Amino acid sequence: MIELVHLRKEYDNVLAVDDLTLTIPQGEIYGLIGPNGAGKTTTIRMACGLLAPTLGRALVAGVDVAQEPEKAQQYIGYLSDFFAVYDELKVWEYLDYFAHAYKMPEAEIPARITEVIAQVNLEVKRDAMIRGLSRGMKQRLGIARAIIHRPKVMLLDEPASGLDPKARLELRNLLRSLRDQGSTILISSHILTELEGFCTSIGIMEKGHMVRSGSIEEVTAAAGQTRLVRLTWAGDSLAMVQETLQRDSRISDVKATAGAGTFGFGGSEDDLASVLAGLVAANVRVTSFGEVKQTVEEIYMKLSTHEVM
Ligand code: ADP
Repeated sequence: MIELVHLRKEYDNVLAVDDLTLTIPQGEIYGLIGPNGAGKTTTIRMACGLLAPTLGRALVAGVDVAQEPEKAQQYIGYLSDFFAVYDELKVWEYLDYFAHAYKMPEAEIPARITEVIAQVNLEVKRDAMIRGLSRGMKQRLGIARAIIHRPKVMLLDEPASGLDPKARLELRNLLRSLRDQGSTILISSHILTELEGFCTSIGIMEKGHMVRSGSIEEVTAAAGQTRLVRLTWAGDSLAMVQETLQRDSRISDVKATAGAGTFGFGGSEDDLASVLAGLVAANVRVTSFGEVKQTVEEIYMKLSTHEVM
C-alpha cells in the first residue's frame, strides 16, 4: 500500500535520507522510530509527495506521488507535527473547507462531516470556534481533516508530540479504529513509548538510514534470542532458586532477591517448561513464572547505535 523505493534526499550538505526502501502492506500500522534529525520527517514528506526526493520514488496504492500528485492526494491523509488550524473558523467549517479542497462531491459533504466529527469524538464542539479547543482536541480535529476524504493511507508525523497522556490514549484508540476500518498508517515518533502497543511493524531510523525494519516479532528476534523470564515464589527459597537456575547452561544473568527474580533464557518453550519443573522438584513454591515481553523501547536500545546527528 505504501512503497518507498531507494529514496534519497540531500539538502545542501546534509544527506537526510540515504537509499531507503520500505514496503508497508495494507492494514499495517508502521511506526518509524528515531532520534531528532534521523530523517523521519523528510521520509514522510517524500512519501506524501510534498518534498521531491533527490533519487528514488514513492508510491501510494500503486500511484507514484511525484508523477500523479493529484490522484495520489486522494489516497493520502497527511498530518504534520505542526499543522495549521485556523483559529477563526468553527470546527465544522474547517472540515467543510478541506472537504471542498479535496473536491468531494457536494452532496456527500455534510454527512461526511458529521461522521468524522463523531469518529474523533468532537460532537459537542461541532459549532465551537477552533481557538477555544484544547491541544488534544485540535489534534483530533487535524486527524478528522486528514481522513475527511476517506484516504487509504495515513501519514502522521509525530502526531502525539505535546499531547497529555489522556489525549495520547485517545489518539491511539482512534488510530486503532482507523486501522480496523482498513487504513494503512505510517506514524513517526522520537518517543518510543508513544508507539508501543499499537504498531504492527516498526522501523528504526538513524542518520538517514533504516537500521532495522520489520514486524515487532522480527525486530525483537534481531535484538537477540535471549528471552527475559520473571518468577516469584513463596517462602524462603532464595538459595535453592539461585542454585537450580545457575546449574542450567541455557540460563544467564540470574538476578534474584527474596521472593522474586529474573533470568535470561536461550532455550525453547519445552526447555523453559523443564526449568519450571526443576524448580518445583526442588521444592520451590513457585507463585508465578513467565516470559517478560520486551518493550519497543528495549528493542530500540539494543539495536540503535545511539548516534545522533
Ligand atoms: P527527523 O524528522 O527524524 O527529526 P528530519 O527529516 O527533519 O529528521 O531531518 C533529517 C536531517 O535533514 C537533519 O539533519 C536536518 O537538519 C536536515 N534537514 C531537514 N530539513 C532540511 C532543510 N530544509 N534544509 C537543510 N537541511 C534539512
